[in-house]
Amino acid sequence: MKRTLAALFLTLLLCSCGAPREPESVQFFAMDTLMTITCTEEDLDAVHHAMREIARLDALLSRTREESAVSALNRGETVEDAELAALLTRAAKLCKATGGAFDVTVAPVVSAWGFTADEYRVPTQEEITALLTHVGAGGIGSDGEVTTLAEGVSVDLGGIGKGYASDCAARVFKEENVSGALAALGGNIYAHGTKSDGSPWRVAVRDPFDGSAYVGALSLTDAFAVTSGGYERYFESGGKTYHHIIDPATGYPAESGLASVTVVCGEGLLADALSTALYVMGEAKAIEFYRTFEEPFDMILVTQDGRVVLTEGAAALWDTSVAEHSYQYETINKL
Ligand code: ADP
Ligand code: MG
Repeated sequence: MKRTLAALFLTLLLCSCGAPREPESVQFFAMDTLMTITCTEEDLDAVHHAMREIARLDALLSRTREESAVSALNRGETVEDAELAALLTRAAKLCKATGGAFDVTVAPVVSAWGFTADEYRVPTQEEITALLTHVGAGGIGSDGEVTTLAEGVSVDLGGIGKGYASDCAARVFKEENVSGALAALGGNIYAHGTKSDGSPWRVAVRDPFDGSAYVGALSLTDAFAVTSGGYERYFESGGKTYHHIIDPATGYPAESGLASVTVVCGEGLLADALSTALYVMGEAKAIEFYRTFEEPFDMILVTQDGRVVLTEGAAALWDTSVAEHSYQYETINKL
């Protein structure tokens, strides 16, 4: 009898507070992309706070805003900013760990292709060869506070900035006790807590070959998911397509056999840097990296030949009910 009463009480309790509330969503433009944060009404103040944090980071890290600290660095000035120094030190470390596949000093090459100013062009091989002499994380000098770049070196935080911004949003949500929120900073997702009905956030992964379709969806709670794909920013010239993820080894858009890479892990910055790096590496090297890299992460690779390769951790969060086309799914493990 006691147990029945307790069960009844629990049921009533669940009924009274379990009714899902209508989610709010806040949209804004920052870091050259449309950002959307979904939350409940009670958490709107915290979300506005996170939005101001992201605007602050945009003003610090933008390559196209003359007054930013990154622009000052790229003009050859010495910059004293501990946050920027920490970010660039981490970027240099990730450059080394990824064998140079992720390299923020690829900046002059990104600009030569016109991706910085959105004035696309195909640079000559001579131009690329000359610019590549300034690429390499060794060109970043920092003592933890003050940063200086070597002569001719410049940095582009486009491959890491939104991920770092999602970490800052996560910190604000935590500090302000937000119960659940979904931050979509372009292709950089942070799923905080759960939806108001207690279920995990669901994040669909786009089909890189069909903009209106999905290859599947991830169920996420307190996790970051970042997708990099050549389809996100590209131009066509002479019947060829050129996209914005540059292989620092060649100076050309990476042609690694991958169409998109999604990385899932506990840190936005890492997920962002790795999604770019693994796209450059291609399937075989990406799998090797997954098996050997010291920090845990999961990934979903969509290959140019239409396969969807998931690590075991990603497969555990994955469902294909949103997939309208049929795909060949493969799961790989750590060994
Ligand atoms: P998106 O910015 O579309 O989310 P990514 O996170 O993959 O995509 O970052 C691509 C951006 O990073 C490019 O627009 C460029 O600014 C910069 N970038 C391009 N190639 C590299 C690379 N190999 N390493 C680091 N940054 C890169
Ligand atoms: Mg990235």
